Amino acid sequence: MTTCGNLRDGGTVAIVGAGPGGATLARLLDRRGYTVRVLERDASPDGRHQGGSLDLRPDSGQRAIGAAALAETFAERSRDDAKAFRMLDADGHEMPGQGQETHEDAGPEIDRGDLRAMLIEALPSGMVAWDHNVEVVERQLDGKWRLRIEGRDAVTADLVVGADGIGSRVRAALTNVQPIYTGITMVAAYIRPELWRGSRISDTLGEGSVMFAGANKTIFVQRCARDVILLYYSLAVPEGWPKCAGFDLSDTGAVMAAVRETFRDWSPRILGMLTDVQDRFQVWPTSVMPPDYRWDSKPGLTMLGDASHVMPPFTGKGVNLALLDALDLADALVANPGRAVADAIAGFERDMQARTSQEIRACLQVGRSAYGIDLGFDLGKPA
Ligand SMILES: Cc1cc2nc3c(=O)[nH]c(=O)nc-3n(C[C@H](O)[C@H](O)[C@H](O)COP(=O)(O)OP(=O)(O)OC[C@H]3O[C@@H](n4cnc5c(N)ncnc54)[C@H](O)[C@@H]3O)c2cc1C
Repeated sequence: MTTCGNLRDGGTVAIVGAGPGGATLARLLDRRGYTVRVLERDASPDGRHQGGSLDLRPDSGQRAIGAAALAETFAERSRDDAKAFRMLDADGHEMPGQGQETHEDAGPEIDRGDLRAMLIEALPSGMVAWDHNVEVVERQLDGKWRLRIEGRDAVTADLVVGADGIGSRVRAALTNVQPIYTGITMVAAYIRPELWRGSRISDTLGEGSVMFAGANKTIFVQRCARDVILLYYSLAVPEGWPKCAGFDLSDTGAVMAAVRETFRDWSPRILGMLTDVQDRFQVWPTSVMPPDYRWDSKPGLTMLGDASHVMPPFTGKGVNLALLDALDLADALVANPGRAVADAIAGFERDMQARTSQEIRACLQVGRSAYGIDLGFDLGKPA
């Protein structure tokens, strides 16, 4: 027996994760009269650095923001001139036409932290329970779902949505499939603040972003909000790097030595400009879910965004797909109040999985041509 047939009549929705996907879903459902609780592992809204700049596409991210009645706030906080994108080679020469195809439908840019803050601020105070690390999701005999939370009382809900990103705990209740490491780890670093304006890197970048591309490796540089310049070095290293290489990120000399070794064949003029960074690094091992994996739908339990279909950032779609999932799930739940929640979820999952199979293939095609990634999936012809 499940009690989640009528969620708007006293049923509760628990969303695990207050990232862009979870916070968007919370906003959409709250506006439509659902009782929502968001459980977030971070200790506070600004407890953790939230990453660089993302663009919201008209047909996905912006659509969800519009449905959440946040288009005006987004227009105020996003940067339209930041969507300019150029591709340069390892000597700094323009590569006309290269890479533009992934950016031609780009939208205004917003820092991930600003996007998340905008969404959280729009939620009723207290809706997000911070410092709630969900460890296990299990089904009760009455059909409800029970969330076990580290060091806290368990929470019970009629519908649980996993929006808890790449390391999702909700996913374990739906499937055994796990993300696969692509072989490429991004090392993020900030250009030194005194160079954010009036420097060669600043002039090269302008207000947008530049991808420097060599054989199977890139350095992606982006202007973020408040002038900040952030870059990502791509390193072909084993999973678990740098620990598996015997050092950690605080050993900044070792990190920069790995970067210099990777890009040793690049023009010193270009590399000099791109290694003038602050000595605080972050690593991002890029991972992907298999393009065609599916799970058996379960009443009252689903997932969206990176929890469901994490992919590398090669096509810049991750956040857009998370927001679109949130919109589609909210619409599916609302579409027909008489329809069983289980049917709404199954329909949502079918559509999301079909869409993301294509998106993952397109992303891995870019990964193959830009980084030589081959995980053995049939990717079809390049899009
Ligand atoms: C460095 C970097 C650059 C990126 N660049 C782009 C880009 O240019 N364009 C683009 O579209 N996408 C980009 N992405 C991807 C994009 O950020 C993600 O696709 C997007 O954030 C996914 O949103 P989400 O809400 O599904 O998951 P997440 O953003 O991962 O949010 C998950 C939330 O769940 C919380 N959580 C995790 N585990 C638990 C738990 N057990 N209990 C409770 N809470 C939990 C986390 O703290 C987090 O707040 C980038 C990602 C990174 C890391």
